[in-house]
Amino acid sequence: MSLIGKRALVTGGSRGIGAAIAKALAAEGADVAITYEKSETAANEVVKAIEALGRKATAIQADNADVAAVQASVEKTVAKLGGLDILVNNAGILKLGTVKDISLDDIDALLQVNVRAPIVASKSAIPHLGKGGRIINIGSFFADRVPGGAGLPIYAMTKSALTAFTQGLARELGPNDITVNVVQPGSIDTDMNQAAGPFGEILSSLTALGRYGTVDDIASFVTFLASSKAQYITGAALTVDGGANA
Ligand code: NDP
Repeated sequence: MSLIGKRALVTGGSRGIGAAIAKALAAEGADVAITYEKSETAANEVVKAIEALGRKATAIQADNADVAAVQASVEKTVAKLGGLDILVNNAGILKLGTVKDISLDDIDALLQVNVRAPIVASKSAIPHLGKGGRIINIGSFFADRVPGGAGLPIYAMTKSALTAFTQGLARELGPNDITVNVVQPGSIDTDMNQAAGPFGEILSSLTALGRYGTVDDIASFVTFLASSKAQYITGAALTVDGGANA
């Protein structure tokens, strides 16, 4: 177990990629707090699964569009777990729309949840992170390339913004021996992007492997980045996409 004694916060840990990351970090020995917006029951199930591994866990309701809620989620994590070593900014939303037609409300929501919240959570976490601390952002392979026809410009822009933020913050925190990276998943079978959904076939065909990835494909990589084995990786955008951008 490589994460014994570490304390982690995973935003959006009630479902999908975040739930898998939370459980994988706990399986490596970390105590884990998760946040959720609406799925209280699912969040409590993740907490139970982590506790069954013998680790501490807590679920915190926080809408990442709300700055005060994001700040409070970090402070509640520190209070409950006794500190913070690993922040995983995973919570994200997808809203499709052409630039011509997407509403200003949807643009604001994408910016607030996908960009401002990771910045605010990092800002709140930094005073708590010691040497060996980790910030791991969950971006998207759409930060590199933006396939046409799917209404992706604004969502993709939020994920590109996260990549630049990651690079700059890595420079800022490097002297403190804290690493900052962004993991860019490809198509992963979750509620947000179902393999059996309307885009499943076309997105599978984009990959070199010819299929969607699983939440565990991302969780295992995030767990590696959180460990001391990844101590020299920082400021990196690491794509886990089955070769979709190859
Ligand atoms: P899901 O929609 O399956 O799960 C989203 C999670 O984020 C849930 O826990 C949800 O909480 C939480 N969440 C959503 N909105 C908010 C909010 N306003 N405040 C707090 N929490 C919120 O998404 P995925 O697991 O698929 O995606 C996770 C991350 O991975 C996202 O950042 C996404 O952009 C990224 N990603 C996903 C890809 C994919 O193919 N699945 C591809 C590339 C990137 P609740 O359950 O309460 O709603």
